[in-house]
Amino acid sequence: MNSAWREAQRHLAGGVSSPVRAFQAVGGEPIFMRRGLGPYLWDRRGRRYIDYCMSWGAILLGHADPGVVRAIQKQAAKGTGFGTCTEYETRLAQEIKKAFPTMEKIRFTSSGTEAAMSAVRVARGFTKKNRIVKFEGCYHGHADSLLVKAGSGLATFGTPNSEGVPKSLAELTVVLPYNDPEAVRRAFKKYPDIACVIVEPVAANMGLVPARKEFLQTLRTETSRNGAVLIWDEVITGFRIVYGGAQHVYGIRPDLTVLGKIIGGGLPIGAFGGQSKIMEKLSPSGKVYQAGTLSGNPLSMAAGVMVLSRLSQNFYNNLNQKCNTFFDEAKTILRKKDRSMSLQNFGSMFTIFFMAKKPSDYREAAKSDSRAFKAYFHGLLSKGIYTPPSAFETSFISNAHTSKELDKTLEVLKRC
Ligand SMILES: *Cc1c(COP(=O)(O)O)cnc(C)c1O
Repeated sequence: MNSAWREAQRHLAGGVSSPVRAFQAVGGEPIFMRRGLGPYLWDRRGRRYIDYCMSWGAILLGHADPGVVRAIQKQAAKGTGFGTCTEYETRLAQEIKKAFPTMEKIRFTSSGTEAAMSAVRVARGFTKKNRIVKFEGCYHGHADSLLVKAGSGLATFGTPNSEGVPKSLAELTVVLPYNDPEAVRRAFKKYPDIACVIVEPVAANMGLVPARKEFLQTLRTETSRNGAVLIWDEVITGFRIVYGGAQHVYGIRPDLTVLGKIIGGGLPIGAFGGQSKIMEKLSPSGKVYQAGTLSGNPLSMAAGVMVLSRLSQNFYNNLNQKCNTFFDEAKTILRKKDRSMSLQNFGSMFTIFFMAKKPSDYREAAKSDSRAFKAYFHGLLSKGIYTPPSAFETSFISNAHTSKELDKTLEVLKRC
C-alpha cells in the first residue's frame, strides 16, 4: 500500500474527505495529487496526467488559471472574510444574472448541497406544503431529504439512501424515474401536497443522461398547474454547457435555480435564486431561516467574478466546437471496437457507457458493465489520463485542453 494512502487512512474517515475519491468503484489505491496546471495534474511522485475530472467540473478555464490565481491572491492580501456585507457578493450576483435572467434574487452558500437543501426549504416555506419530488439517479448533494432512493415495488414514496436518514423524513420525498412524464402526472394526481420538484435538467450524476424536452416541459406544466415550485439543479450545467445553462438550451424557465461548482472559480461555493416572491420568503425579509458564516466570502466571490466575467456565448461556441471534434473522433474509435460502448456528450461533458445503447434513465444507466469500466479506467490511468473513478460520473473538458491533449487521449482510446 502506498504510504500516503496508509497515512490518510489513519487520520481521515475512510481515508478521504469525500467517498468517491477512495477508488472503491474501480479498485486499486487512490492517487494523491499535488499540483495542477491547465489541463494537467501531477501526483506526489511527479507523474503527469491529463485531467478529465477537473475538480468534478468546477474548473472551466483549467487548473491554476493565471487570472484566477491573481484575483485570489489580490483578495487574500486584503483579508479572506469579514462576516459583513461586501460589494463582491453583488458583483458576482450581477455576473450570474447576466446569464440567468430567471434568478431575480440570489443567495450564496458554501456548497451545492446547502444551496439545494435551502432551495427545497424555501419552496416548502413558500407553498406551505411538505412533500417533494426528485428523480432516480439525480444528485442534489447530501441533505437528508435528498438522500432518498425509490421505494420498492409499487411504493412511490422514497426510502433512505443512507443510514442516518430517518424513514419518516424520506417518506416525504417522492422518487420518480427520470425522463418519464407520465410518472410525474401520476404523482401530482396522487399527492395534493407537493411543494416542489427538483431535477438535474441534464443529469450528470448517473453518468451523463440529458433530459428529453417533453419531460422537462411536463415538469413545468404540472408544477405550475398544481402550485408547486420547479427547481432546476444546474450546479453542473450552469456555466458549463452554454452561456445561460440548460434553461437557455431548453427554453424553459424554472422558478428556482441551484448553482455551484464553476461559479466559485474552483473555491467552495453554492448559490440558489429565482423569483423574487419566493426568495423574499428567506430570512431576514421572510420567515424561512437560512444562513452561513462563510457564505459570500470574498475569496470565492473574487475567483467567481474572474471566471464568469470572461465567459460569453462565443466562449462556449469555441469550447463546444473543440469538444465536438474530439467526441466525433472518439465515437468512430469506439464503433470500431468489438465491445459495445456508447459515448454520451453534451457541451464539454461526456460519459462512456459500457452498453450498446445510451441510457435515458437510472435503471438503464445502472446496466453499464462495471467490470469493463474498471478496465477502461485503469487502462487510461496507466497511460497518464485521469478520469473520475466511477462509472456513474461525468468527465469534463476545460478550456485549457488543447488538441495536443485531446489527440493524445484519442490515441490511448484507440490502443486501450
Ligand atoms: C456537485 C453537485 C451538487 C452538490 O454540490 P457540493 O458543492 O458538492 O455540495 C448538487 N447538485 C449537483 C447536480 C451536483 O453535481
